[in-house]
Amino acid sequence: MALEREFFIGIDFGGTYVKYALFSGDDRAILFKDKAPSKADQPQDVIFAGLYDIIDELLEKAQQQGGTVVAIGMGSPGAIDFDQGKLIGSTPNIPSFTNADIRGKLSSRYDLPVWVDNDANLMALAESREGAAKGATNVIALTLGTGIGGGIIIDSEVYRGSFFAGAEIGHMSINLEGPPCNCGGKGCIERYASATAMVHNYRTKLRGHALKVPEEINTILIFDEAENGQQEAIDTIDETCRYLGAALANLVNIFNPEYIVLGGGVSEAGQPFMDQISKEMHRVAMPASAKDVKIVHAQLGNDAGIIGAMRLAFDHYEKMQK
Ligand SMILES: [Zn+2]
Repeated sequence: MALEREFFIGIDFGGTYVKYALFSGDDRAILFKDKAPSKADQPQDVIFAGLYDIIDELLEKAQQQGGTVVAIGMGSPGAIDFDQGKLIGSTPNIPSFTNADIRGKLSSRYDLPVWVDNDANLMALAESREGAAKGATNVIALTLGTGIGGGIIIDSEVYRGSFFAGAEIGHMSINLEGPPCNCGGKGCIERYASATAMVHNYRTKLRGHALKVPEEINTILIFDEAENGQQEAIDTIDETCRYLGAALANLVNIFNPEYIVLGGGVSEAGQPFMDQISKEMHRVAMPASAKDVKIVHAQLGNDAGIIGAMRLAFDHYEKMQK
């Protein structure tokens, strides 16, 4: 009798959407993917009911394709107790999800192994296993979005810290006199180099020169305007690179990774931006620490979360079989 095909579920739970996919265990390809509203402002049982609908749908898809789901991986914002598969405390954009026992709920309902991790950790895992840093053993990944999320891979494993609250790279302070951050600190790098910070800096520069401020500003617009030669956009990007370069120099001096992978809004930016950040990093970092470090674009884009969730489940399921 032929063995039934093994499938994996990857779920990327975010403040706006839950992205989810069914993966083939043979080649880890996406067989089906979709997204649904995460209902982040709803009570916890409503959020879980939404997750159950998603998993039910994926289990049905698996059956239709003649296979069976063997494990579930899921990413969520916030600090995750990886051993327990539950949230530690709260996460700002999803108030009712405080202390949510994700593994407990999902594994008891579906009788499947479930692994849960922080979403930025999973982005780093995905890029180090299947993306821009494929095959590398020491990798740091940053997502430059509303804030800056960070994940650290050491010796091919996610580094979570002793109490699952490490790798908060976005809250590395680069200026003790800097603007206050909602983490309670001051001058965090996410106040200088996130997509939000870039947009804010650009708007301030336009206003300062009494120029018309477009209604919608995003990083794509800033990069476009810089390409058109607009000085305010060029200056915004230069500053972002300088701050980011300094932050990456700190990371490189400490971790000496093979790759630093940058994702989020900047993935639209092109190689010149990466080169400029790299130049700024080399200006500040210790030469021996920075020598062979490559700064690259994230490759997996919007799929990084689901692929990371799948890889988490895939890797741990493999270990379980041995
Ligand atoms: Zn902070």
